[in-house]
Amino acid sequence: MASLLLIAEHFEGQFRKVTFNSISFGRDAAEKQGLDFNILVVGEDVEDLAGQLAEYGAANIYVAEDPAFEHYNTEAYTQAIVQVANDSDAQLIAAAATVQGKDLMPRVAGRLGAGIASDITGMLDDGTFHRPVWAGAAIAHIRVETDRKVVSLRSTAFAPAEPTGGSSNVETVAIDLDEDRIEKVSFVERESTKSERPDLTEAGIVVSGGRAMKDADGVAMIESLADTLKAAMGASRAACDAGLVPNDLQVGQTGKVVAPDLYFAIGISGAIQHLAGMKSSKVIVAINKDPEAPIFQVSDYGIVDDMFKVVPELNEKLKNG
Ligand SMILES: Cc1cc2nc3c(=O)[nH]c(=O)nc-3n(C[C@H](O)[C@H](O)[C@H](O)COP(=O)(O)OP(=O)(O)OC[C@H]3O[C@@H](n4cnc5c(N)ncnc54)[C@H](O)[C@@H]3O)c2cc1C
Repeated sequence: MASLLLIAEHFEGQFRKVTFNSISFGRDAAEKQGLDFNILVVGEDVEDLAGQLAEYGAANIYVAEDPAFEHYNTEAYTQAIVQVANDSDAQLIAAAATVQGKDLMPRVAGRLGAGIASDITGMLDDGTFHRPVWAGAAIAHIRVETDRKVVSLRSTAFAPAEPTGGSSNVETVAIDLDEDRIEKVSFVERESTKSERPDLTEAGIVVSGGRAMKDADGVAMIESLADTLKAAMGASRAACDAGLVPNDLQVGQTGKVVAPDLYFAIGISGAIQHLAGMKSSKVIVAINKDPEAPIFQVSDYGIVDDMFKVVPELNEKLKNG
């Protein structure tokens, strides 16, 4: 039977949260299109991990294991996905639009001769996809004309899936790898920023500071509030460009897209490019001394005052329960 193949993303022995958001899309889209819903887990020694998804409503969970999949490699992963997509008659192939998904899915589409819709936030019954454009100011409707379709998903648009209680068939598949192609690129080393704070894209609370942080003391003040709330730290592009904080904290159109339960925008004006990365947050709190700042148009709670007065007071109150 024709199927939908969802690529599950994992890192260091755990599924990334986006995998569960993607499952929501996969289950719903498969039902709408009358397709079998299947999941593919690619990696080294991932069979036990794959089993953790057995209660999420997929008909089959395919497990592609090989030492070549130990570290993410575009070519090796592409080969696994293309083979499983062909063997399972996948008509719709989906993955989260993470750094990995954005790298992987165009190549998968190219290899399958399929059209692609990137960073989608929904699908209509006829297979037309939604995608925010112009920093979220408009929604494009994208029609992919090929029979087979590839999509990458903006995970913040889909609620994380809950288990359905069923039990999927878990099947290990041997991938016929073309080593010559894989060897053109090899993994050298991973350098990651060490932080005690939660990952920005996965945190339940994000505390972001803007250009108004001004200097290291301002940054430390925002960090302290983030730590009190056990939150991730974020920032505007202006704060990153000014060298106040590293670029990987940038939230927005050209940074990370987040949708936490609670988002603090402190000393951030609310430019459309910043809003594109956080306006789906469930509750938004803005602190800004300018009552006309655009951030107040999207915030649920707003404090018009000097952040250097408000933030320490708020932090003290939160610390003292
Ligand atoms: C193609 C493109 C892509 C972009 N991508 C992004 C992106 O991904 N993310 C992003 O953030 N931006 C992005 N930008 C930049 C964006 O347009 C804004 O320039 C940027 O978001 C402004 O950052 P800011 O709000 O920190 O700074 P500002 O615009 O300078 O605002 C600072 C705010 O702090 C307030 N303030 C100052 N002092 C205090 C105080 N003591 N207490 C309280 N409030 C105070 C001010 O009233 C003001 O509202 C992009 C721009 C372009 C052109």
